[in-house]
Amino acid sequence: MSALTLYDTHSRRKRLFEPMNPERVTMYVCGPTVYSYAHIGNARPAVVFDVLSRVLRGIYGQDHVVYARNITDVDDKIIAASKETGQPISEITEKYARIYREDMGALGVRVPDIEPHATDHIGEMIDMIQVLVDEKYAYEAEGHVLFAVSTYDRYGALSRRSLEDMIAGARVEVADYKREPGDFVLWKPAADDEPGWGSPWGRGRPGWHIECSAMSEKHLGETFDIHGGGVDLVFPHHENEIAQSVCAHGGKAMANYWLHNGFLTMGAGKMSKSEGNVKLVHDLARDYPGEVLRYALLTAHYRAPLTWNGELLTKTRRSLDRIYGVLRRLADVEAVEATPPADFLEALHDDLNTPKALSALFQLTAAANKAETDAERARIKGELLAAGELVGLAQGDPDEWFGISELPDAERAEIDALIDRRNLARAEKNWDEADAVREELTARKIQVDDGPEGSTWRKLEG
Ligand code: AMP
Ligand code: ZN
Repeated sequence: MSALTLYDTHSRRKRLFEPMNPERVTMYVCGPTVYSYAHIGNARPAVVFDVLSRVLRGIYGQDHVVYARNITDVDDKIIAASKETGQPISEITEKYARIYREDMGALGVRVPDIEPHATDHIGEMIDMIQVLVDEKYAYEAEGHVLFAVSTYDRYGALSRRSLEDMIAGARVEVADYKREPGDFVLWKPAADDEPGWGSPWGRGRPGWHIECSAMSEKHLGETFDIHGGGVDLVFPHHENEIAQSVCAHGGKAMANYWLHNGFLTMGAGKMSKSEGNVKLVHDLARDYPGEVLRYALLTAHYRAPLTWNGELLTKTRRSLDRIYGVLRRLADVEAVEATPPADFLEALHDDLNTPKALSALFQLTAAANKAETDAERARIKGELLAAGELVGLAQGDPDEWFGISELPDAERAEIDALIDRRNLARAEKNWDEADAVREELTARKIQVDDGPEGSTWRKLEG
């Protein structure tokens, strides 16, 4: 089997992946802040790292991977949403955490092994902040605790920026109580009408960055294998996570590989709430099967930008039609236990090259149609299903895909026979016969899609 290489943002190169302990491969991904619906850009890291967790399980074993993705359920934006709507904070966070789970489920994203909630880890955050204060990496000022970036000489190593650039670029909040403008908040005071917890520095709440440092330490250890998230998190979020964790842990690395997905864009701009150009997963999942959305997200390499538009979804739906068309034709063939084909695995193991892997998967549909024996078909079907499982595609019931699972067997057989007749008539250039059959299919509300590997059909609604 080909070795897994991953592009590490920290060293800016593709590196051979070597876990510290192959029996416990650890991955942490920054999860959602739960105060509103996730857009399809937010779903990109969820899908990408879901694929990576499947690939890791494929290599190291199902039970030898620990994947943690947090839920940020205390944050300025959540508090603002609560003030705006009058809804209690916990109602908002529980509601949107549930919706996030449902939406990601619709995209075939498996629930991670651990989903730590920030509010369940306040004690761990306070402990970590206390260590940083005791060791003079952090200081208290006016009820705030701040990390003093000048105490960590590798600050900026992940994003490769100088402190001056970082401060200028990120519109760092200037405040009197900061020693340096780049110092960032570990703990801040809470107003009476805001959620807060007792601490050595008074009633308050944690900053966003300390949440991930404390939760990853608790569940994965001081140093873990992979840390992931969107590229917008490199600075300041991940830079700050590293500073906190490395300083609290006596200089030990936080994670050995740092992975970042690129942006999903709508033409010119990144999809984001502030740009006002978001497409919510919740809405998209009503108009398209979740599998179409998942496939579309995987058509670009995870580090490359991905342009989202209707054409992409139309093309993707057609690709899945072809795959399910083959699976439907092979419905009576018993798949043999198989591993995914070598070129498919090689592509995925090469820094998760999903576009190349999907094209290898697609080749199998052509091979299936050319196969001459049942043994060959059984092997190809097995490979197709095994490859599909690794990327979370092609695991459904083909009849359901084509909306024909409710049709009685006899009717399905009749339609298959009609399509065979039509294809034969067309091959013989018997256009009268071909037209007659087409009319009959139209009357039965059957839509036929012809592809290079044969025809598939679906029942139109209504
Ligand atoms: P947020 O809830 O904004 O913190 O985002 C959750 C995750 O989605 C983070 O890992 C972000 O980096 C990622 N993300 C947000 N917008 C996009 C986008 N347009 N394309 C890709 N990833 C994004
Ligand atoms: Zn984080």
